[in-house]
Amino acid sequence: MATTTKTKGTAKSRYNELRKMLEDRRRELVNDVQGRMRDVRADGSKDREVFDQGESSEVDIQEDIEFALIQMKSETLTKINEALRRLDDGTYGNCFECGEEIAEARLRALPFAVRCKDCEEARETAEQRERTLAQKRGSTPLFFDVSS
Ligand SMILES: [Zn+2]
Repeated sequence: MATTTKTKGTAKSRYNELRKMLEDRRRELVNDVQGRMRDVRADGSKDREVFDQGESSEVDIQEDIEFALIQMKSETLTKINEALRRLDDGTYGNCFECGEEIAEARLRALPFAVRCKDCEEARETAEQRERTLAQKRGSTPLFFDVSS
């Protein structure tokens, strides 16, 4: 099914739709991350670099969860910014493997999809293997607060 008729009108509206979708998500995430950071600070503005963690209270654990969430969300935010950049370059929303346009519905569900459904399914097994490896290696450095 390679009947991609590139009329300017539809390309433009696709661009606008995708742009709006990404920007909405970005706004949501920014609000969420900022809200969470306020909460964490409000709860206990204690130094996080405590090295002798003899006792880890429930508050500490909750804080860790919050930080992990904030970190995860800020990574998503970075991805959205990248996606917006790619959208402007005209490379967002096209399959990395076969070059076909990725269906808009798919992009709404998975904004960072870089492959169409078919190619993704082919890659899924390989990616799962990679993910397991990545988990074994452990996660990335801590989130740094850049907002203040
Ligand atoms: Zn593809």
